[in-house]
Amino acid sequence: MEAWSHDRWRIPLPEGHKFPIDKYERLRRRVEADGVVIHQSEPVPWEWLEAVHDADLLARIRDGAMTVREQRGLGLPWSELLVERGRRSVGGTLGAAAHALAHGIGMNLGGGTHHAGRTFARGYCLFNDVAVTLARLRAEGRARRALVVDCDVHQGDGTAQILGPDPDAFALSLHGARNYPFERIASDLDVDLASGTGDDEYLAALSDALDTALAFDFDVAFYLAGADPWEGDRLGRLSLTKAGLRARDEHVLHRLTPRAPVVVVLAGGYAPDVDDTVEINAATVDIVRSLS
Ligand SMILES: [Zn+2]
Repeated sequence: MEAWSHDRWRIPLPEGHKFPIDKYERLRRRVEADGVVIHQSEPVPWEWLEAVHDADLLARIRDGAMTVREQRGLGLPWSELLVERGRRSVGGTLGAAAHALAHGIGMNLGGGTHHAGRTFARGYCLFNDVAVTLARLRAEGRARRALVVDCDVHQGDGTAQILGPDPDAFALSLHGARNYPFERIASDLDVDLASGTGDDEYLAALSDALDTALAFDFDVAFYLAGADPWEGDRLGRLSLTKAGLRARDEHVLHRLTPRAPVVVVLAGGYAPDVDDTVEINAATVDIVRSLS
């Protein structure tokens, strides 16, 4: 198996910051030790980001001129490294997509930055890797219609802003009803789950949602395998076990892979002990490997 990582671009963060910067390196080391070949993600050119994001927003990000309000919404301190890392995170999803188109499935050990919209960058998300990758695949004539299955515990508002009005894309988001973001933008299908939802209820809702989503024809699928629906997550509010998350990944991937190439990205995970998030992510990698 091959996968993409940008963990060497570590952003400077204040002591005690909630963003789990350690998970990227720990996950890469763990799966590399298991024999996964790691490609270093390349930074995407700004023109490719401009296909999706507002040019003024991009200029403010590039020049370190985001407003105080924008920086607070992003939740990460601006630095040149932050921007470089963001461009490489998108590059990883592009690499994984190229691999998926050739081999059926590909994975970025990062990405899933679904709170980045056309006109905003918030919730730890600078650029929308999935939307930029789709725009690039279309520009190259390699795919047109896309299905996004977003199982991060937070609603995919940025993806919804970009792909919601797009008739050639279907965005499904399964998330905690009482969770960030509190101002929503509607996806093609939003599934709001009550706080405390456990494995069985979650998997039933997922299966129903996929019945609807899979009525859509698509050339490529993106799966956001967020680790944050886990019962121990600090920002989650749902109560899935690690076995339940594994069953979720298997269910999604076993239904998507027969239909089209699938690009898997990490999205969130905020376990108090980062190794729990890494364990959940590594289980996703194992399932991807079994399908590679
Ligand atoms: Zn999340």
